[in-house]
Amino acid sequence: MNEIQELYQQLIIDHGCNPRNFGCLEPADCIEEGYNPLCGDRIKLYLQWSAAADSASVISAARFEGCGCAISMASASLMTEAIMNLNKLQAEALFHQFHDLLIGKQEEHQDGHLDMQLGKLMALSGVKAFPMRIKCATLAWHTLISAISPRRN
Ligand code: ZN
Repeated sequence: MNEIQELYQQLIIDHGCNPRNFGCLEPADCIEEGYNPLCGDRIKLYLQWSAAADSASVISAARFEGCGCAISMASASLMTEAIMNLNKLQAEALFHQFHDLLIGKQEEHQDGHLDMQLGKLMALSGVKAFPMRIKCATLAWHTLISAISPRRN
């Protein structure tokens, strides 16, 4: 294992054991639940927006509750930090970059810009070697996407 992989692994263990932004958020503008049946991971995501239903609105607070494997918890923890102050389009774009990284569509370190965007999320890049765990790493993100997608009443 090289130095950077070791660093990534420590980040995952750290966030998996001591998740950031863990707990409920009251009042929350939106609450969404997600479940990964392949592993049994569960998450409940709470979001607050800086402005009501405005395209200029950004995520002003994000917290989560849940239980599951270390990867799912670490990913949710890292996500709540990464999506702060992003608007819906930026959050979606970040998810797509992260997803591309996990499925091996983006080569890590080939593009410095990608690294800048993903930041600590790069710690989960090792998951691409374990396809069964991709759903663990993306659970929080899929929950986020359904939380921010417009829904029909
Ligand atoms: Zn899992």
